[in-house]
Amino acid sequence: MKVTLLGTGTSQGVPVIGCSCEVCRSVDYRDKRLRVSVHLQVNGKSIIIDSGPDFRQQVLRERIRTLDALVFTHEHKDHTAGLDDIRAYNFSQHKDMPLYGEERVLEQLKREFAYIFSGIQYPGIPRVELNPITEEPFEVEGVRFIPIRVKHYKLPVFGYRVGDFTYITDANYISEAEKEKVRGSKVIVLNALRQEPHISHFSLQEAVELLEDLQPERAYLTHISHLLGLHREVELTLPDFIRLGYDGLQIEV
Ligand SMILES: [Zn+2]
Ligand SMILES: [Zn+2]
Ligand SMILES: [Zn+2]
Repeated sequence: MKVTLLGTGTSQGVPVIGCSCEVCRSVDYRDKRLRVSVHLQVNGKSIIIDSGPDFRQQVLRERIRTLDALVFTHEHKDHTAGLDDIRAYNFSQHKDMPLYGEERVLEQLKREFAYIFSGIQYPGIPRVELNPITEEPFEVEGVRFIPIRVKHYKLPVFGYRVGDFTYITDANYISEAEKEKVRGSKVIVLNALRQEPHISHFSLQEAVELLEDLQPERAYLTHISHLLGLHREVELTLPDFIRLGYDGLQIEV
C-alpha cells in the first residue's frame, strides 16, 4: 500500500491568512500545509479520505488520475468543502463517485451540498453514491476499512485502519477498547495541533504519549497549526519513530 499525505494542516491551513509569525513566513516547503487529506493506493484502488477545501490543488499536485471512492472522517468543513470538484472524476470515469461516511455525516453533506441531492440533474453537477457506515468494518471497492471511534471534543469521529496502516485525525480522545483496534499497526498517522492543550485536538505531547503507548514502527503527525512551531525545529524534539508529516510525503506500508 502506498499512502500519500495530501495535506497536513489544521482547518485554516499554514500559512494562516494575515499572519506574519515565523512559521507562516517560513520558506521551508514542509511549513506549507494544506488542509488534511490522505490518498491510499491499495490493491490497485485509489481512495481518498476527506475532501477539504484544497482537494482540487492536491489531486492535481499528486497527479491522481483515477479515484475510486471518498471516505469521510467527519463533517467539518475543512474535511468536506472540496466535494464539488469530484465532478472531474465523474466526467473522466463515467460513473457516480461512491462516498462513505456515517449517517450523520452524509446528512450534513446533503445540507451543505443541497444542489447535488435536489433531484434536479442540472448538467455538470457532481454525481455521488451514498454508502452509510457504522462502527462495523466495511469494504470500499474490496478494501477492508476498520472504523476507529475517537472523540473530537464531543463529536464522534472515525479514524480508519486499513491493513497495517491507521489514520486518525481530529481526535483528542480514544478509549482503551478502540486502541486495541489500532495496536499492531506498522504505520500510524495521528493529529497533533500545537504545543498547548486544545479542547478538541491532541496537543503534541498528548499525541506523542498516545503513540508511545500504541508503539507503531513509524508514526507521522498531521492536522498541524502554525502554533506548533517550525517543522525542522519541532522534529528535533521528537522520538525517532515519530516524524512530522508534510504535504506530499509518501509512505510505503
Ligand atoms: Zn479538521
Ligand atoms: Zn502564523
Ligand atoms: Zn474537525
